[in-house]
Amino acid sequence: MKAAVRMVTRSQSQATGFGSLGNGEEPPPPGNREVAAGKGRKKHRPVKRQRKVQKLHVAYEASDGEKNEGTDPLEVTVWEPRDWKQELANIRTMRSRKDAPVDQLGAEHCYDSSAPPKVQRYQVLLALMLSSQTKDQVTAGAMQRLRARGLTVDSILQTDDNTLAVDTHVHRIANRLRWTKRMTRSPEETCIALEEWLPRELWSEVNGLLVGFGQQICLPVHPRCQTCLNKTLCPSAQSF
Ligand code: SF4
Repeated sequence: MKAAVRMVTRSQSQATGFGSLGNGEEPPPPGNREVAAGKGRKKHRPVKRQRKVQKLHVAYEASDGEKNEGTDPLEVTVWEPRDWKQELANIRTMRSRKDAPVDQLGAEHCYDSSAPPKVQRYQVLLALMLSSQTKDQVTAGAMQRLRARGLTVDSILQTDDNTLAVDTHVHRIANRLRWTKRMTRSPEETCIALEEWLPRELWSEVNGLLVGFGQQICLPVHPRCQTCLNKTLCPSAQSF
């Protein structure tokens, strides 16, 4: 008898969860089940809050396979000058003759085209480093002289440190002092002219001396001749 009672109880329990109660009555709606299951008992019903549904709109760059499949193209705002296209077109027109110094003497023209690619790249690198410091003409002249001596990494490593470096200061002062046989028009010319007579052991020292002298006393525009110790010697002292 006990086994039969248990079976009946289980049968009723299952019926409560699924559709009909088995006695012809329909189950109460979900909200009333607790009431139906435990009449007379107070139950805390969870407060259901209405969830706000937020839509997140995602735009992304569609791949070729996704195009025209309802995807939004990614729009990135990038600043650009208003008239740059027309300005660039005008510059192309003005530069169409390709007759500026950079066209013949720019760093990319200063390498030995017959040298191995590695050496070419090294020479271009050196030319770029020089061109950031001086005019294209000066870069071209310096590169020409360096290449004449064999411009490779190995040759540079074997180079004698005792070299005469001539920049605009050395060039200017050498001419004011008439340290060149005749007036020279570029630092390259000045370098050649100085190397003809200036003792080699002074080359490394002269550059530092004259550059600083040019920055402090023998200035490019208004040299301070009155304070210069060479004012009675210098042929140019009266010129300023
Ligand atoms: S005298 Fe004048 S121009 Fe001549 S070296 Fe001196 S500062 Fe330069």
